[in-house]
Amino acid sequence: MKKAIYPGTFDPITYGHIDIIERAVSIFDEVVVTVATNPRKSPMFSVDERLDMIRHATSHLKQISYDCFDGLLVDYAKKNEAQALIRGLRAVSDFEFEFQLALTNRKLSSELVTVFLMPGEKYTYLNSTIVKEIAAFGADISPFVPQNVSDKLFQRISEIRGRK
Ligand code: ADP
Repeated sequence: MKKAIYPGTFDPITYGHIDIIERAVSIFDEVVVTVATNPRKSPMFSVDERLDMIRHATSHLKQISYDCFDGLLVDYAKKNEAQALIRGLRAVSDFEFEFQLALTNRKLSSELVTVFLMPGEKYTYLNSTIVKEIAAFGADISPFVPQNVSDKLFQRISEIRGRK
């Protein structure tokens, strides 16, 4: 059985992430979408909130499991008996960081293979940070995230504003 891990911050999940997950399940028997609990970026949503949104957005797909992780990805992959790590490649700007990460992980664990997938062209410019930024200005984010994510995002933005 071929199992892959798709790690990320997913703060929040976008159609770009969903596109990558759909491609990954067409190749692997199981894909574990795993949320980083200790990211460098300070997230807008808790791990549980991010997982709920991911579950909801991928409920049309089988072969998926959901988790969170903290620590070294290679250790996590070994513990989960996964053979591959999925990463999305958008523009050239992703390349340098992803190249560094993939080679470092290969050094740490030679059996773990990093698989890069490209999303459909319309998602190549999309990232969670941009979606949060434009949502803060009240833009229509329906082309970028599913409805439940959009609702949660606007709700969180108004909660943050209410606290100030
Ligand atoms: P980001 O804040 O850049 O969206 P994540 O940590 O959530 O970052 O991303 C997890 C993985 O998903 C990374 O490999 C990232 O390159 C990929 N990814 C994020 N957005 C997209 C997208 N629009 N298209 C393809 N891959 C993406």
